[in-house]
Amino acid sequence: MKCTQKNCEQETTLSYVWPGNDVPSLVCEHHARQARGVAEAMGFPLVILPIEVIPVLEESVGERRTRRALVTLSVAGHRMLVCQTVVRIAPS
Ligand SMILES: [Zn+2]
Repeated sequence: MKCTQKNCEQETTLSYVWPGNDVPSLVCEHHARQARGVAEAMGFPLVILPIEVIPVLEESVGERRTRRALVTLSVAGHRMLVCQTVVRIAPS
C-alpha cells in the first residue's frame, strides 16, 4: 500500500492521528518524520504507530488479481481496524 501523501511512492508503514482528525493518516517513514517535526515545532507530541496490513482474501477478475487486506494498528495491546484496502498483485 502506498503512502497517502501526494506524489509519494513509498510503502505505508506508519500512522498517526493529527489533532482534530478522526481518521489516522497512513504514511511512509519519511512523511511520519516530517509530521512529527511539524508537531514538535507547534509544541505538541505526535504519537506515531506502526500499522500492520493483514491479507484476507484473494480475488481475480480475468487477468487482474487483487488481494483484499485489512489495515490495522495496535494501541495498548488492542488491535484496531483502520480501513480496508485492495492491493493489486503483480502477475508472476
Ligand atoms: Zn510518504
